[in-house]
Amino acid sequence: MGFEISKEASPYLLTVNDAQLSEKSNLPRLTTTLVCDDIDNPSITLPLTSTKVQNLIQEAERRLDAQDVKDYSQSINLLQQATILGSAYAAAKLGSLYLNPLNTSTAPNYLSAAGYYSIALKLISMIPCKWWDLKLLLDIISGGWYELICSRFDRRRDLYTWNHGIKLMKQIDKKLQDPDFTGVLSLKDNEKYRAIRIHMVYCYALTAEVDNDYPLALKLYQETERVGFCRVTLADKLIKKAHTKYRLLESRVPRVQPVCVQCGFVAKELTEIWRLLVCSKCQTVACCNRDCLAKHLKSHDKF
Ligand SMILES: [Zn+2]
Ligand SMILES: [Zn+2]
Repeated sequence: MGFEISKEASPYLLTVNDAQLSEKSNLPRLTTTLVCDDIDNPSITLPLTSTKVQNLIQEAERRLDAQDVKDYSQSINLLQQATILGSAYAAAKLGSLYLNPLNTSTAPNYLSAAGYYSIALKLISMIPCKWWDLKLLLDIISGGWYELICSRFDRRRDLYTWNHGIKLMKQIDKKLQDPDFTGVLSLKDNEKYRAIRIHMVYCYALTAEVDNDYPLALKLYQETERVGFCRVTLADKLIKKAHTKYRLLESRVPRVQPVCVQCGFVAKELTEIWRLLVCSKCQTVACCNRDCLAKHLKSHDKF
């Protein structure tokens, strides 16, 4: 029986020994980016899986360094194998290779990039969040989804993928905001946590803006600012950008509600909104016609 088990495992034995001998083990990082082998025991990642994944990633990175076209497609293949074994790191690496190919002869493929960044987020959400590698998550959000949504995607052309990315980010965001998780973060991780949230909320805000939902966009740009500076340069720049966006949009959103303060008429059509008369005295309310405005103006005389 024992003999049979070792025979079963023999194709992998060599790789296990290799990894042990090389002592280049990055297993602690790996366990935070690798989906567990046992759903009922989320802490269990079999050494065999983690060693196999580690070897695949190391070999892929070695081939990427070689910068040979043949090696390039081989390393993509290796990373795909590691992704299938549950490695969020490998999926994210693939996302970045499709977004910014290392060799100049390969054109970027934004949809493939989004596909692998989606897999990366899905794999991460399968790992209990106390083991999340926040540096990897930040790479996926800021280098991946933020880049795609804010600079590469076209809202109309890539609508479906764009919305899918927002949906995945909101799922991650929900888990991130769990007090059990945020309460135990180290100072460094707290900075990364905030940098991740800044990028995600900015993406929601930009989405609302391009959809012409200015009131929501304003709220979300303000929320981006409220996350606060985090000492991660790109995220802190984004806070300033959110502030500028807020100021620009603010002027486009009427502060006066499109409702007649006197008779309660609600202006829905744009032409109706244009016809509203803003009270010159208080400048905070509108009326539907001159009669209503005259009645409203009388209320100012009482004071
Ligand atoms: Zn009225
Ligand atoms: Zn008034």
